[in-house]
Amino acid sequence: MGRAQLHTGNPSASGPRATKASRDRFLDPRLKSSPCTWCGGKSTSKSAARRCKRCRKLELIIESASRFMSANGLRGLDRSTAGGSGVEQKHRSEAARAKKTVNGIKRERLSKSAATKARRNVAVDPIVKITKQISDLQLALTRVERKITDLEASEPGTVRDRQLDVLRSRRAGFELGIARRRAKL
Ligand SMILES: [Zn+2]
Repeated sequence: MGRAQLHTGNPSASGPRATKASRDRFLDPRLKSSPCTWCGGKSTSKSAARRCKRCRKLELIIESASRFMSANGLRGLDRSTAGGSGVEQKHRSEAARAKKTVNGIKRERLSKSAATKARRNVAVDPIVKITKQISDLQLALTRVERKITDLEASEPGTVRDRQLDVLRSRRAGFELGIARRRAKL
């Protein structure tokens, strides 16, 4: 990662100890309310952008194990939890457990979103669809009837009569639409 300069306008955010993640979090208020990028849960962690408490805890376990390995010149985290010392072994097995949990969390989230998509794709029940159309038409009919009543009460004239003609034919159209759909139920 390069030393990308962020134009923050915030002098405290560009201090030498600020990490990119912490700067981003300060800069972008949306990040605070964004869901956890791993599980989709509520992101509440103060120490990392877009991780919920549970995921951040797991992330920290992995991070600290990884830091331990590099600080001591040991091989990076891998599938094997074998290590030269008890401390190393403890770090490795804790990280492995955390990784496994994280993978489970991510998998669960994926299958959940797949299920949601599948549900959305299920064809709408035709009866439900027609019922909805009828209720929409009835709403439109009520509106047009109100307009007709208002116009009928207003001063007679050619403009009014023309408007009434238009509204009455619209009303007839809605009534026909409702009758046709009712016949299908
Ligand atoms: Zn999470």
